[in-house]
Amino acid sequence: MVRVFVDVLGGGGEVGRAGFFVRCEGCGRGFLLDYGVNFDEEGRPRFPGHVRPIDVAAVAVSHAHLDHIGAVPFLYVSAAPLAVMTRPTLEIGELLIRDFMKLSGYYIDYEESELYSMKEHSLLVDYGEEVSVDEYSVMMTSAGHILGSGLTYLDAGGHSILYTGDVNTIQTWTLGRAELWPRSVDTLIIESTYGSSLHPPRHLTEKKLAEAIEEVLDGGGTVLIPAFSVGRSQELISLLAAEFPAETVFLDGMGRAVTDIYLANKRFLRDPGFFEKAVSVTRFVRGWEDRRRAWRRPGIIVSSAGMLKGGPALYYLKKLAGNPRNAVFLVSYQSVDSPGHEILEKGVVESLGLEVKARLQWFDLSSHAGRDGLVNIARHYRASLKNIVIIHGEDDARTRLAEEIRSVVGDDVNIYLPMNEERLILEN
Ligand SMILES: [Zn+2]
Ligand SMILES: [Zn+2]
Repeated sequence: MVRVFVDVLGGGGEVGRAGFFVRCEGCGRGFLLDYGVNFDEEGRPRFPGHVRPIDVAAVAVSHAHLDHIGAVPFLYVSAAPLAVMTRPTLEIGELLIRDFMKLSGYYIDYEESELYSMKEHSLLVDYGEEVSVDEYSVMMTSAGHILGSGLTYLDAGGHSILYTGDVNTIQTWTLGRAELWPRSVDTLIIESTYGSSLHPPRHLTEKKLAEAIEEVLDGGGTVLIPAFSVGRSQELISLLAAEFPAETVFLDGMGRAVTDIYLANKRFLRDPGFFEKAVSVTRFVRGWEDRRRAWRRPGIIVSSAGMLKGGPALYYLKKLAGNPRNAVFLVSYQSVDSPGHEILEKGVVESLGLEVKARLQWFDLSSHAGRDGLVNIARHYRASLKNIVIIHGEDDARTRLAEEIRSVVGDDVNIYLPMNEERLILEN
């Protein structure tokens, strides 16, 4: 029997700022799974709980989203732990961290030198490659969420843990579904972002989106699709290249730089040849001349930010909103404090004095597994599972997921719904 301690530093009863510090009993240093940030309603960053950097043998970073990597450079203010991640996670993560430093620098206690040190101490791994540090060994497989995202399999002195990070269990245009490795898992640490909901079948949502775009184009309108720059933008240009091969699709915002990173790491893609083709028919917006050209004619524009919180999407919205022939199709999660949520609810953005006459619609193209996909992960490992820790979800979502998982794994498995700052003591 190997006992491990898991300190929940963030992501307990909330989406984001993931941080889980694992230490096996009797072991010297511990192993950190993710160290991210999230944001309060005013857009100020919130950091996870503290861990002494010298106590961290290594950190495994599941993927490049700021809610998983945004606090990692902190670890390099006073120490130099090994940072295990894939190459796309490091490259996209660096892009997002730099953007974060630019926008929120005032609130952040690390600087360029810590980011540099993180890069220096990064050990870039391929899927399936095992790395050992102290009493720990770690390996990642594809999580299907964004390029380079990993399911993290951690062995802590003989206690086997699977940490899902953010996971998608269906195949998408750019990525295969999450790859569940055949091994026995004692403790499953699982995200629950959509623990209370089921996504409609992806192909139906995509069909509806394509039909809606077709209608707008037929009517001589322009379609704006605000999209997250990582993952969603690349999904959309792939979908649009397949469905509208004759149409010019403009791509604007940080999604351009991220697309370049996708191209530079082609072997992490499901179908590199197809993605290259999709990019070759996509028109990258290179400046104001292009930007004006994009909205002044009927066509399709994919641009960040996905929740209309900023970026060129906001510029396009102002230009296109007044004409009922145009459309704004939202395809990303819209937090309740976002302009995207406001226009879907009320058809206006009060802070901008903007009334939207263009067609408005939301499509569910999530990059997270729905409840059924999450339950299937627990089902897959049920023969060996002793503990399930449900994190990265609101209360509703994790409670609902816990009920559903309980009905699949039976009563002998411990299910935990920890809050931040809680320490779990887990046995195998
Ligand atoms: Zn996340
Ligand atoms: Zn994510």
